[in-house]
Amino acid sequence: MQIKTLNNKSLKLTNDGNLTFLFIGVGSAFTKKMNQTNLLIIKGDDHLLIDCGTKCSTAFLNLGIPITDIENYLITHSHADHIGGIEEAALMARYVSKKKLTMIINETYQKILWDMSLKGGIAYNEEKAGNILSFTDFFNPIRPKKLKEFKRETFHAKMNSIDVKFMRTKHIPDSSDTWESSFWSCGIIIDDRVLFTSDTKYDPELITEYDSKFNFEHIFHDCQLFTGGVHASLDELNQLPSDIKKKICLTHYGDNWESFTQKVKDYGFKGFAKEKTYYIFN
Ligand SMILES: [Zn+2]
Ligand SMILES: [Zn+2]
Repeated sequence: MQIKTLNNKSLKLTNDGNLTFLFIGVGSAFTKKMNQTNLLIIKGDDHLLIDCGTKCSTAFLNLGIPITDIENYLITHSHADHIGGIEEAALMARYVSKKKLTMIINETYQKILWDMSLKGGIAYNEEKAGNILSFTDFFNPIRPKKLKEFKRETFHAKMNSIDVKFMRTKHIPDSSDTWESSFWSCGIIIDDRVLFTSDTKYDPELITEYDSKFNFEHIFHDCQLFTGGVHASLDELNQLPSDIKKKICLTHYGDNWESFTQKVKDYGFKGFAKEKTYYIFN
């Protein structure tokens, strides 16, 4: 993996074909110094935005492109640091650039995302043949296929050349011990090479089950700098085997991360993932 700093306002949505990650943010839900953990994947002429939080469109503008240029989405769960920017993206797409956005989403999560979050903000802006607007007035859904060979619910889809497999995770509520009893949230495998957990509690089975199948080149893992609540903490992640830890870059961390750099090194992690940085898998 090659790491390259992005110069101010120079973001491009295409590249020479190497799978490339750019974190729009790496901060927690309540970060004030960073942007929230939203991930842009670029490969050749294709792009896919994983999550679009409240600060996302401003963050993109600071990188040099308007949110209207982002056409393809996959959403991991419904917290505002992951979906708070979708309303703006959807309204801008319908009324400014006059196009539909593409979203990889299954029917179960589409219903959750629309009925519980997006509908109140965007369904009532106009009437179409006497009806309010629906999800498909804003989005062309790509339906993933359910894969049978995994113990936990896992789906497969492609955004042209970008291959994604996503599996249910254990994020909320804090009391749920299994992915089955957790509210919808997912982690993502990209091109069978890299795992991005998005938000999850400490869940060693998730890492070991999928790593034993894919032998990931790299893992980007949710990390909270204290233990408790609905995220994996640094001390909990320290219990993972050392050959896994050395593949892990931490994401979704708090603004006080700099006090933990030595600990992250001592524990044997690869480090903190950074904003304005290209991770190129060549
Ligand atoms: Zn989050
Ligand atoms: Zn969350």
